[in-house]
Amino acid sequence: MKKWVYFFGAGKAEGDGTWRDLLGGKGAGLAEMTKIGLPVPAGFTLSTETCDYFYKNGKKYPSELKKQIAENVAKLEKVTKKKLGDPKNPLLVSVRSGSARSMPGMMETILNLGLNDKSVEGLAHATKNDRFAYDAYRRFVQMYCTVVMGMSKEDLEHRLRAMKQRLGVKEDTAVPASGWKELVAEYKAYFNEKNGSAFPEDPMEQLWGAIGAVFGSWMAEKAVTYRRVEKITGLLGTAVNVMQMVFGNTGDNSGTGVCFTRDPSSGEKTFYGDYLSNAQGEDVVAGIRTPVHLTELSKLMPKVYGQLEKVRVKLEKHYRDMQDMEFTVEEGVLYMLQTRTGKRTPAATFKIAMDMANEKLITKEEAILRVKPEDIERLFYPVIDPKVDKKTLSAKIIGHGINAVPGAAVGKACFTAHEAEEWAAKGEKVILVRRETSPEDVGGMAVAQGILTATGGKTSHAAVVARGWGKCCIVGAETLEIDYKTKTMTASKNGKVVKEGDWLTLDGSEGTVYADAQPLVTPEFPKAYQTVMKWVDETRKMRVRTNADTPQDARKAIEFGAEGIGLCRTEHMFFTDFEHPEQSHNRQLAIQEMIVAETQEARVKALDKLLPYQRRDFVGIFQAMDGFPVTIRLIEPPLHEFVPHEREKQAQLAKELGISVETVARRVEQLHEANPMLGHRGCRLSITYPEILEMQVRAIIEAAIECHKGRVKVLPEIMIPLTLDKKEMSILEQATRRVADKLIKEAGIKLPYLVGTMIELPRAALLAAEIAEVAEFFSFGTNDLTQTTMGLSRDDAGRFLPDYVDEKKAGVFAGDPFQTLDTKGVGMLMRWGIENGRKTRPKLKVGICGEHGGDADSVKFCHEIGMDYVSASPFRVPISRLAAAQVVVESKQKAAKKKK
Ligand code: PEP
Ligand code: MG
Repeated sequence: MKKWVYFFGAGKAEGDGTWRDLLGGKGAGLAEMTKIGLPVPAGFTLSTETCDYFYKNGKKYPSELKKQIAENVAKLEKVTKKKLGDPKNPLLVSVRSGSARSMPGMMETILNLGLNDKSVEGLAHATKNDRFAYDAYRRFVQMYCTVVMGMSKEDLEHRLRAMKQRLGVKEDTAVPASGWKELVAEYKAYFNEKNGSAFPEDPMEQLWGAIGAVFGSWMAEKAVTYRRVEKITGLLGTAVNVMQMVFGNTGDNSGTGVCFTRDPSSGEKTFYGDYLSNAQGEDVVAGIRTPVHLTELSKLMPKVYGQLEKVRVKLEKHYRDMQDMEFTVEEGVLYMLQTRTGKRTPAATFKIAMDMANEKLITKEEAILRVKPEDIERLFYPVIDPKVDKKTLSAKIIGHGINAVPGAAVGKACFTAHEAEEWAAKGEKVILVRRETSPEDVGGMAVAQGILTATGGKTSHAAVVARGWGKCCIVGAETLEIDYKTKTMTASKNGKVVKEGDWLTLDGSEGTVYADAQPLVTPEFPKAYQTVMKWVDETRKMRVRTNADTPQDARKAIEFGAEGIGLCRTEHMFFTDFEHPEQSHNRQLAIQEMIVAETQEARVKALDKLLPYQRRDFVGIFQAMDGFPVTIRLIEPPLHEFVPHEREKQAQLAKELGISVETVARRVEQLHEANPMLGHRGCRLSITYPEILEMQVRAIIEAAIECHKGRVKVLPEIMIPLTLDKKEMSILEQATRRVADKLIKEAGIKLPYLVGTMIELPRAALLAAEIAEVAEFFSFGTNDLTQTTMGLSRDDAGRFLPDYVDEKKAGVFAGDPFQTLDTKGVGMLMRWGIENGRKTRPKLKVGICGEHGGDADSVKFCHEIGMDYVSASPFRVPISRLAAAQVVVESKQKAAKKKK
């Protein structure tokens, strides 16, 4: 017979702390604490498999469950020497959720179960405390009504307030037994009225109701959302823990508390926690009374405190991690109700990991695994001050979008990039609000505190550019209607209107847009960060480069630990001069002149104007990356992105270039494509206009020669984008070498450089063996490779992708494939591409430069398929370093497990 229920109590347990998957975190912790001799009330756990069965079988329980529950209740009654529903000395139980991963506050709990009109008398008698017994009873009835029956909490609270008013008391503690008794009767009458049946008096019926409610809460909206946000997948469900109640609210000799084995804010090794005398756990959570610091407990109850201190040491040694424990003191006796790995601030994460490794409690490798990518992320970015009251904050919500780049930003709403630049020049802080962004907006994006777009996904233009700068960005906020004409943004959900110049706050970590300027704070940078990251670098095998287009970004990336550039997108340089912003317009004009040119001669003339700008940028980048390789990608985007589409702007351009507006309009019209993403872009441009390639290669090599002469060590890698064929690659490789070799020869120096390609199309991955005959390196452009393999647009798939990710709707993907690699499909092509590429060219250098290079799970996959390096935007470099080290440790652990 399959076992669904597991008992713990009297020093024995069916299971232990390693059984998290089956018993949930709480159940496993209770079993473990029981086994190591800590004072834990007895109880039993319905496994997560039961929950899984429940959902797979139309919310029905396994046939054996009834018998197993009955047996375990009997066992519990034997161990506690009390009986459920006993009119003399009743056993009361709590019923709590607990999945394998902690989901605080997301699921349900019911306390004091087993009380009815008879057993409440027994409780009053046994505790010699009527008031306490009837208070316990009303709490139970209230919880049962709301949690099990889904009745309105407010309706019940309203009756509670009315009763207190009638009795003329303010505090709950002043309500006499008769008051609670009256309230129970009222609650029950209301129960009858709402449900058409009497409140269940039978404790077993109550128990089944509570079990159903806990299982039900696994699929409640907030729990599903929490799992999605926290990326919790692959769990069977929640367990249900039924445990003997102990009471912290029987008088001053009782109480309840929560403590941490180390300070969860700073990570310091101090005993940290709160204690509330004469109270039940829910009072601490509800914040009705203010608890005292744990040190007060040492004065109030020195013996209990001493015991608790011993538990602290024992549990931390046992679990080898900081623990968050709940305890209750009943009439001077300590009970441990829960232990779990404590949540902590990012700074504390580093401090605790470092300290525990130094204390030899864990190894350095384990310390590396203790840090999560989000911990790193949250160290760098400002956040909304946690002191801001949550309710006040949520009243300010205007809408939600996709959390493209974390951190928070405050500024005045600006609806055009041009105005953003003007306002910023006057010293204003601005938030750039656009339906979507294009390369034309880059200047405004650069000066904005944060960026908000109504469309687009995590690899849309706005997201990619903002990520490169570590700039707070929310995209795809589809419920916000942006009207450029009236310069307003209207929230379709609540009708709130934001006008130009109104203050806005973006929380890019959550994807939430708030009205007004909320206060921001930047977390302090912990010393432990440097130490742990040193361990990380000593452990990883893959190199970590960065995606950077400017000398500034390159320098920033070096600070974050980048070891070269994996992708320099040259087209971003066409629009903005980051070192001399006043010259940006000249650059734009030159590229636009090149595009509208109708002859090769005219094109070359325009390109000659661009050459010095590009060369200067490359010099800056080579200097910043002194000694590290720099991969520079030749022109990539469709040319229509660089020219104006509005008549007014076309006329202006025509005037500046001294040509007719018709010529400009005609060229723009000619560039129009039905599917620009599948059109004349990437290396196809260089096939048609080889002079663009020639100018860019010249700029790169001339800059390299200049740097080489200035004793800067340069390692240029010239990268051809969007290749799909060996012949195509070969034409462009030869064109590149013709220009480069001639310049190097003329300079009379030795300057090694590589010519390689991006793999962004399935055909390129499939024909990798042939393409590697020509290409000296591959860099997987997984933004496009995902787009072209899956046939999903990276720009607006965000409109329906959430349905594909939503567990309740379709659940086709575990996450957004533009954020975390689709290792199954796209990954198969990557694996094939690397294997076959290296068959032709065993030393083929392979990396990744799509956004996935900064995503921890994707980085781990890149290690597994044998990449030499990953490349991420500067702010994500530390995350990639961490992930590259973690995968080494994890594979070692897996191999050791296999051996065993
Ligand atoms: C890619 O496609 O993955 C890539 C890096 O290029 P881009 O994002 O510029 O298209
Ligand atoms: Mg691409």
